[in-house]
Amino acid sequence: MPGELAAVSLGSNLGPSQALLARAVETLAALESCQLEAVSSLYKTRPWGDVEQPDFLNAVVLLRWQGAAHALLQQLQSIERQLGRVRDKKRRWGPRAIDLDMLCFGDLQLADSDLTLPHPRMAQRRFVLVPLAELASDLHIPGYGSVASLLAQCPDQDEPLPVRKPEPWYEQE
Ligand code: AMP
Repeated sequence: MPGELAAVSLGSNLGPSQALLARAVETLAALESCQLEAVSSLYKTRPWGDVEQPDFLNAVVLLRWQGAAHALLQQLQSIERQLGRVRDKKRRWGPRAIDLDMLCFGDLQLADSDLTLPHPRMAQRRFVLVPLAELASDLHIPGYGSVASLLAQCPDQDEPLPVRKPEPWYEQE
């Protein structure tokens, strides 16, 4: 099963964050259209924008997706709903149980009302670039360059700290 190579970022700073991220990875891995390629370490990151909230746990997964990018987006949103993300429209950067963003999808570049690819803010966020570089620093992000070059130019001062686990932090099949 070939499919397109996609990168997805995961974040949580509400509730049992590590368990929620693990469930999100396991749910993705169980989808028929999805083949998990690699999962980063967990990283602890200070919250972006809104300072009065707990630290985030972040990770990135690389996967092969058999189908359209919009179908992957729908699955990511369905997992967010299943895992109880409560949206607060007034606090864009507020606490969230689980946030799944599609960073890139093969060489696809698009912007419509539902989906922008590559993710428009990925180049500004070390909590995305550092775990992505752990998995694929040579990966080419269309319109931007390699992950390594994005990281070298990233203006974000907040360094995500790897959370070292003796065991994988999610259940492998
Ligand atoms: P947020 O609340 O920051 O997670 O944004 C979610 C909204 O962003 C949803 O309405 C998505 O349709 C939209 N969106 C646009 N591009 C992307 C992307 N690359 N990954 C995930 N959501 C996206």
